[in-house]
Amino acid sequence: MRSFTLCLGLAFASLTSIGARAETPIPTRNPVGESTKFKRQPPQTWVALGLREAQRIARAMAIVRTAPYREHFAAISAALSHAEVVWKETGDYPACGAKTMAYVLGREPRIHLCAIVMRHPDFGVDALAQTLIHEGAHLAGFRRECDATKLEIAAVRFVTDGLAYRNAYMPGCGLR
Ligand SMILES: [Zn+2]
Repeated sequence: MRSFTLCLGLAFASLTSIGARAETPIPTRNPVGESTKFKRQPPQTWVALGLREAQRIARAMAIVRTAPYREHFAAISAALSHAEVVWKETGDYPACGAKTMAYVLGREPRIHLCAIVMRHPDFGVDALAQTLIHEGAHLAGFRRECDATKLEIAAVRFVTDGLAYRNAYMPGCGLR
């Protein structure tokens, strides 16, 4: 079982924006409208569903998996239950840029969703849940992108029927 290195201190001291970067096109696994998961709801509803799904996945990992996943996902589950998810109705957060899907600032319990996610017609609840697991890992103290991505992959693959999309960190982290 692999353990993940925690990068503490520096990252917490500075307000570094940690964004999940998307490869384009983002979700390809299911066509739009194939299931209700992929039908975009009003933003409020869609974000609430995505957050609930992310919390479900994190809780399942905390209950079912052995160490170190159990401990890691207990922390992620707690982080997600305290996190506020925010987005802009128009425009985008300056920190988002062209390829950033979401970001957090230090351990501030707030997940910012970028326009690329909010306005992508194919970005389903399951894709959003995957994104929120990644950001929840950052909030739980996993600052490094490869660590957050490993946890994201482990959780989504174990609890659901697979990744909704591949994030752009995967190749550089040696993850498939
Ligand atoms: Zn990240």
